Parts: sequence; structure tokens; C-alpha cells
Amino acid sequence: MTERGDQGSAHPRAETVDDFVANLADVRARIDGAAARSGRDGRAVRLLPVSKTVPQERIRLAVAAGCTQLGENTVQEAVRKHGEMSDLDVDWAVIGHLQRNKARDVAAFAAEFHALDSLRVAEALDRRLQAAGRGIDVYVQVNTSAEEQKYGLDPEAVQGMLETLPQFSALRVRGLMTLAVFTTDTARVRECFRILRTVRDRAREADPALIGPGELSMGMSGDYEAAVEEGADVVRVGQAIFGARTTPDADYWPGLA
Ligand SMILES: *Cc1c(COP(=O)(O)O)cnc(C)c1O
Repeated sequence: MTERGDQGSAHPRAETVDDFVANLADVRARIDGAAARSGRDGRAVRLLPVSKTVPQERIRLAVAAGCTQLGENTVQEAVRKHGEMSDLDVDWAVIGHLQRNKARDVAAFAAEFHALDSLRVAEALDRRLQAAGRGIDVYVQVNTSAEEQKYGLDPEAVQGMLETLPQFSALRVRGLMTLAVFTTDTARVRECFRILRTVRDRAREADPALIGPGELSMGMSGDYEAAVEEGADVVRVGQAIFGARTTPDADYWPGLA
């Protein structure tokens, strides 16, 4: 696995459709390899390309190379790109923390939301979705690294959250999501993924109906192979497909050094 921290230099910017075809094939092959190492079928793992900070000209190349789903961290950027590229057949995923006052924007266009972390957001999103006559796939975000600044529910709070979600009929629960700790210490990264899997397994034992397919959304450019080995069903990969971002990750995760 690539260690975090050196991932930037390891990912040259994709500039042509062929670059994207090659990067997508490389990531897919690594997913397949990781799945095989853990006795799973790589085709069951969904690759969600993350296009944050990438301008539409290059996103269009990625779509031409075969991307049909795109993830964005912020609602503002997702809304803008959805508008700019409404001619494309792409499903948009919002994968970052949502403020309640942006729920209406998400309800208007997003196919899925990976960062459900409070009852208040669930309520707001459901209300806006009901009004729009739409439904959305959601993943409950779990803080598996016990870092205070991280978004996500404590593992112990997940079951309670799952029990409240059936009242929000526009939210289709798909499973759980996490961001592993940012470190080159791969053992600690894997521990986060294992915690998510354990929380999912416990939720299934408690009441399998509440967690839907019980998918695990975990793994990014620096750690998706480990995530797949630990049971990821969805990996959210940006830089390994689009190229290194120049913006620091602290822009997306407040509190990150
Ligand atoms: C940016 C982002 C990713 C992808 O990170 P990369 O390093 O570009 O692969 C995954 N999940 C979330 C929530 C993100 O904001």
C-alpha cells in the first residue's frame, strides 16, 4: 500500500482521456488484487471517483473515459458542477459534512450522501427530499479514529442513529462510512477500517433491517487497498484517478495539521 503523505508526488495529473483510462484501469486492478487477497470478488467493490477541485474540462475527460458517478466533498462545489455538466449522464455523490441549511441543495440533485452524522441533518434532508419527491442513498459517517475534530458518530452512537432513520422514508440506508486516521502508520489506518466493519457487523446482529445492505464506504487514494482488504464495499478515490491536488486536505477536514 502507498503510504500516506507521499501520495501527492505519486499521482501525476491526468490530462487526456487515455490518462484517465489508464488510471481507472490501474485503480481497478489494485482493487481486484486487494479483494482477491481477502478472498473476495473485486467486481463487488464499487469505485467512486472523487472530483473535488478538478475543473469541468478534466472531469469531462474522466467521464469520456467511463466514469458514471462522481463524488464531491462540498455541497457548493457539487451544485456548481452538477449545473455545469447537466448534459452528462453522471450520478453525483456528496461525501463531505453537510450543514442543515444546505440540505435543500443536496435534496435537489444528489444520488447519494456519505456523511450522515446527525439526526438534525437526517430530518432536514428527509423534509427537503419529501418536498422534492425524491429519495437518496445514505451512509452513516462514523468517527473510527477517536479524533475530536473529525466528523462522524462515535461507534457507540451508531445503533441509536440507525434506529431513528426508518422514520425518514426518503433516506435509503446503504451502510456506514469512515475516514481513517491520517498517518503513515498502516496498522492504525487498518484499525479504523476494522472498527467500521465491527460496528457494521454488530448492527447487523442487532437488527439487520436497519442497515440495508450494510455496505462499508472506506478507503481513499492512500489507503484504498488496505480498505478493500478489510472489507470495503465502496472506495472513494480522487488523486489516484485525477492526479495530486494542490490544495491541502486541511481545507476539507478542519483541524487536520
Ligand atoms: C477527497 C476525499 C476523498 C478522496 O481522497 P483522495 O486522496 O483524493 O483519494 C475521499 N473521501 C472524502 C470524504 C474526501 O473528501
